[in-house]
Amino acid sequence: MKIEYNKDLTGCNTFGMRVSCSCFAEYDTPEEYSSLYCVPPDGSPGGTSSGTAGKMPADLLPKPFLHIGGGSNLLFTGDFPGTVFHSRIRFIRELSRSGGNVLIEAGAGTLWDDVCVFCAENGLWGVENLSGIPGEAGAAAVQNIGAYGAEIKDIVEEVKCFDAVTLSMKTIKAEECGYGYRTSMFKEGAKGRYTVMSVVLRLSETPKPRLEYGHLREAVEAAGAGITPLSVRHAVLGIRNAKLPDPSKIGNAGSFFKNPVVPKFSFDIVENYAKSRYGDDYEVPHFDAGSGFVKIPAAWLIEQCGWKGKRHGNAGVYEKQPLVLINVTGTATPQEILDLERKIINSVETTFGIGLTPEVEHI
Ligand SMILES: Cc1cc2nc3c(=O)[nH]c(=O)nc-3n(C[C@H](O)[C@H](O)[C@H](O)COP(=O)(O)OP(=O)(O)OC[C@H]3O[C@@H](n4cnc5c(N)ncnc54)[C@H](O)[C@@H]3O)c2cc1C
Repeated sequence: MKIEYNKDLTGCNTFGMRVSCSCFAEYDTPEEYSSLYCVPPDGSPGGTSSGTAGKMPADLLPKPFLHIGGGSNLLFTGDFPGTVFHSRIRFIRELSRSGGNVLIEAGAGTLWDDVCVFCAENGLWGVENLSGIPGEAGAAAVQNIGAYGAEIKDIVEEVKCFDAVTLSMKTIKAEECGYGYRTSMFKEGAKGRYTVMSVVLRLSETPKPRLEYGHLREAVEAAGAGITPLSVRHAVLGIRNAKLPDPSKIGNAGSFFKNPVVPKFSFDIVENYAKSRYGDDYEVPHFDAGSGFVKIPAAWLIEQCGWKGKRHGNAGVYEKQPLVLINVTGTATPQEILDLERKIINSVETTFGIGLTPEVEHI
């Protein structure tokens, strides 16, 4: 295990926040990680004289603990006082093939897009719409990543974890993962309990294109290469690159806010506002969320409040996608991002009576 103290985390979060942590620990195998939680039978790593007898190695590391992947859904709001863990378990392997179904396993520290490349190049359907999402395979299963009408939960077979309560490895079936919109039990009720070691995905040799979302079908057809996992992947990457900032050039963490789900009467207020502003024919973008609720794109609400392309110190709102807050100069502080977040929330609340909540996890 590689352990560094007072580690600079600027390169470990795609927002490019210049923060540090007391301790940073990277491991290469599940055994290496679980050995942190082994109680020595007698004696201890430091010997009885240092008062560490019977303690697990994990007890000797600064608290609190945080596990990160590529840091692409995180906003560090300051220096982290404890230990940040990161997995270097990187592999992709085929486990089985039968009846058109192919099971593959990816180590938690594998770049998610490497998994997408592997599947596309091997003609396997299931992850092509999720191409180009930053981050790592372990976090992808934690986050229930989604894009262009697909979510990883639909192809997760099982998630292999270390359980910090039973101090043992555990394989969790997809139906036990508590998946919801961009969430799972790993982020909610069981946060901090399970550390993902690898993810098993169920791909298909049978064509299963999902092209209904956005302009995906037009993009695939325009390329004229037929409909294959690889051609869909290329179309998805083209659309993403045209509208999302590349974190290696402009710091960001993707969609900053969740799309609010509001009661129908709140939507009526928004609709009246829009019709009075743009005329009776104007259609507010929205989706029926069932049970009398409506989902409204947060990007639309933010744009209506005049934030698109606006700058606030070194932070800003991306001009092509107002749902994305950016580190304009590369020197934005956490406080500048937080101030911008607060201003946006306040103006959407004042204009529409709707409260936005961040999707990006604040650390
Ligand atoms: C430009 C851009 C575009 C994006 N587009 C999309 C998109 O289209 N769809 C989408 O869903 N998301 C999108 N995102 C958000 C982000 O890429 C995903 O949420 C991604 O899955 C985060 O992965 P990560 O490895 O960076 O995880 P991190 O941000 O480091 O961590 C995310 C969460 O996972 C936990 N975690 C990380 N690794 C482990 C592990 N091994 N075991 C247990 N818990 C762990 C962390 O504690 C944290 O709670 C985008 C982000 C950016 C910057």
